[in-house]
Amino acid sequence: MVASAKTVFNFCSGPAMLPAAVMHEAQDEFVNYHGLGVSIMEMSHRSPTFLSVLAQAEENLRQLLSIPSNYRVLFLQGGASAQFSAIPLNLAQPGSVAGYIDTGYWSQKAIDEARRYTDVQVIASNADDMSQGVCAEDYSVDQSLAYLHYTANETIDGIQFDHIPECGRVPLICDMSSCILSEPLDVTRFGLIYAGAQKNIGPAGLTVVIVRDDLLGFASQLTPKLLNYQVLAENHSMANTPPSYGIYLANLVFRWLLNQGGLAEMQAQNRDKAQILYQAIDASQLFYNYVHPGVRSQMNVPFFMEDHSQLERFLQEAENLGFLNLKGHRSRGGLRASIYNAMPREGVLALVQFLEKFENSYAR
Ligand SMILES: *Cc1c(COP(=O)(O)O)cnc(C)c1O
Repeated sequence: MVASAKTVFNFCSGPAMLPAAVMHEAQDEFVNYHGLGVSIMEMSHRSPTFLSVLAQAEENLRQLLSIPSNYRVLFLQGGASAQFSAIPLNLAQPGSVAGYIDTGYWSQKAIDEARRYTDVQVIASNADDMSQGVCAEDYSVDQSLAYLHYTANETIDGIQFDHIPECGRVPLICDMSSCILSEPLDVTRFGLIYAGAQKNIGPAGLTVVIVRDDLLGFASQLTPKLLNYQVLAENHSMANTPPSYGIYLANLVFRWLLNQGGLAEMQAQNRDKAQILYQAIDASQLFYNYVHPGVRSQMNVPFFMEDHSQLERFLQEAENLGFLNLKGHRSRGGLRASIYNAMPREGVLALVQFLEKFENSYAR
C-alpha cells in the first residue's frame, strides 16, 4: 500500500504522533467536556472533574505497568531534562558518587547535568563505538554508589537495552522517555523511572516520574521546591498547577493502551513493526543501519544511505508521498524512523515499500 495524498504517516521522534482514536476522542470533547460547557483545559485543577481525571490517569498507568503501592506516580512539568537535575539533587548525598552508564546522546546530557551537583562515575561507555552499545557489556557496580542511572532507549542513536542492568542494593534510575509503555516492565527493579511524555505517552509539557517511596526525603537543602520529589509526592503532583491538558490526554492514551490489550500486546506489535523495518534495511544495498542487532532500538530506527547525495531527494519524495519527519537528528545526520506505539503496522509496511521503490529507481 502506498500512502495516498490523504494518508500521512508521521515518523517524528518527538513530539510524536498520537493514536488516531485518541485524537478524535479529544476532539469530540475539546470545547465541551462531558456537557459541562467548558474544556478540560479551562477548568480549575482543583475541581472534582479534573481531580477525577488525574486519579484515573494514575490508576490506569498503575494498571498498565503493575506499579506496586510503595511507588508514587508524579505528573510533572519540565521534561525529562528537568529530571537530569532533579535526580542528583534528590538522590546524591554530599560526598557520595553517582553512577552513570553512557550509551549515547541522552545519557551524556544526563551525565553533564549531574556533574553540576555531584561526583559522577561513568561505569560503562560506548563513546568510542556507537555501533556496539554497552548494553550487553559486563560492568561492576560499586555498592557505595548513590544510584545507577541509565537510558533504556537512546532515541537519537537507536540503541536500546534488552535487559535491566543488575546493580544490587544501589537504586536503579532509568530515563525511559522513548520506550516507556512499549513493553511490560518489572517496576520493582527500579528506584525511579522517568519519561517526557512527548514520545510514547502524550503531548509535550508533561513528564511522568515513578519513584519508590523510600527514596523520598533526601533532597539537598538547595533543591528547588518544584524539583523536590517529597514535596511533589506529598502534594499529589499539585505543588503548583499541573499540566492538566497533558494529563487528560495521557489518560486517554493509557485507556487506549488498556483497550488494545495492554503492554504485552504492544510489545508484540512493536517487535513485529521493528523487525519488518530492520529486515528491509538490512536487505537493502542502498540503506544501512550500523547498530549491533542485539542492541537495536525497537522504537527509533536510524538509517543511512550509502550514497549521501541522494538524501535530499529521498526526503523530498518521502514528504510528497506523506512519509513525514524521516530526517535524522541534526547531530547525527542521515535518516530516522520513529515507530512508537501509535504508529500503525500499515505505516511501517508503506515505508518499507517506499524504501524498495526508491532503491529500484536509484539503481536504474
Ligand atoms: C526526548 C528525550 C529527552 C529530553 O526530553 P525533554 O522532555 O525535551 O527534556 C531525554 N531523554 C530521552 C531518552 C529522550 O528521548
